Formats: sequence, C-alpha cells, structure tokens
Amino acid sequence: MREYLGQCKICGKEICCENGFFNGVLLPEHDYLCFKCDQNKQQALEKRGDDSSVSQ
Ligand SMILES: [Zn+2]
Repeated sequence: MREYLGQCKICGKEICCENGFFNGVLLPEHDYLCFKCDQNKQQALEKRGDDSSVSQ
C-alpha cells in the first residue's frame, strides 16, 4: 500500500506513505521535505547559529 502525498519542496522527490511509513517531513505550511533535504536544512541552520549580530 503506497499513498502519494506530495513532493519535496526542495528537490522534488516524491513523498509518500508506504505501509504506514512516511518517508518525509511535513512542514507547518503543509509543504513536504524528504529526509535528506530536512537534514541539510537542519545542518544549514546549525551552521548559521552565530548569526545573532544583525547589521543595519
Ligand atoms: Zn528533498
């Protein structure tokens, strides 16, 4: 049983629910990310951790 849910917002990979297993991440805006893009996004956020100094 495989239920198509949508596409990864970043890479366009098919996000689906397979035998009850969801192969992606649902964002609050009802967009989907695959696990790979979600991990990349998390790492990018962590790398920008010291971005607290806002230049105006
Ligand atoms: Zn992706």
